[in-house]
Amino acid sequence: MPGVMRTLERIADLRAASREWRASGRTIGFVPTMGALHAGHRSLVEKARAECDVVVASIFVNPLQFGANEDLSRYPRDLAGDQALLAAAGADALFVTTPAEMYPPGFQTCVVPGALAEPLCGASRPGHFRGVLTVVAKLFHLVAPHVAYFGQKDFQQARLLQRMVADLDFDLVLRMLPTLREADGLAMSSRNRYLSATERAQAPALPRALQAVAAAFDAGERSRTALAAIGTAALAREPAFRLDYLEVRDDETLEAPERLGAGGVVAAAAFLGTTRLIDNLLLGAAARRLG
Ligand code: AMP
Repeated sequence: MPGVMRTLERIADLRAASREWRASGRTIGFVPTMGALHAGHRSLVEKARAECDVVVASIFVNPLQFGANEDLSRYPRDLAGDQALLAAAGADALFVTTPAEMYPPGFQTCVVPGALAEPLCGASRPGHFRGVLTVVAKLFHLVAPHVAYFGQKDFQQARLLQRMVADLDFDLVLRMLPTLREADGLAMSSRNRYLSATERAQAPALPRALQAVAAAFDAGERSRTALAAIGTAALAREPAFRLDYLEVRDDETLEAPERLGAGGVVAAAAFLGTTRLIDNLLLGAAARRLG
């Protein structure tokens, strides 16, 4: 039976609530999002509900992580729908905030990521992960969670955040949970709302290409370039996709050894029209380490 969910808009109110929860000895679970929520987000909130005394979600479309030609202004927004989904999933509090509240005049300090941010989405979206780490660091300070929940859907982001937590001594556990998918394999994403009916029908070619790589890995292929070529060829069978990258890498360091060991990750980004979709699969032993 979900209780009443509080919606907080001010940093001061969030801090005060967090202090109260901590003072009363309750554990805080935190799920940061950009809104336009779907079942993938809900799975994170439900996990937090199962593990923590207080569950906090946030919605903030963070301008710092969008490039000049990206979809910041048209990013989907649905506050009423999001509030209903979060309340039903058992969230206790929602922090919905604005650029003015998060980045007041004079703001100038950022978290600079290291080598994990160089390949994959970091190469295609300069400055993106700097924006992500900065806003998540701020949110971690404000919410002061014991556990924070992120999706494997954004694998490189989760690895970078795990690194930040370790490197900058955040006193919390960061959990990475599996990607929720539609029945046809497409990873759930707020950006799926951009797809036309035709594009939506073409989109499952992306997870299929990743599956082809996983199948080849399971059959014993360990050459990184051979595995990537299998995925690229599979995706090329859907000519509507314009490939940004499809790469196989070490799933911990995101380095690019010529031959993989017992595990790895295959990650891809590709455009259907103007919509950029990302997806990834963990390979071999890496798939069994999640959670
Ligand atoms: P976003 O609102 O896209 O910034 O995502 C907020 C959080 O939800 C991030 O930790 C994402 O990785 C996670 N997430 C997004 N899509 C999915 C999905 N399909 N399955 C599981 N987690 C997801």
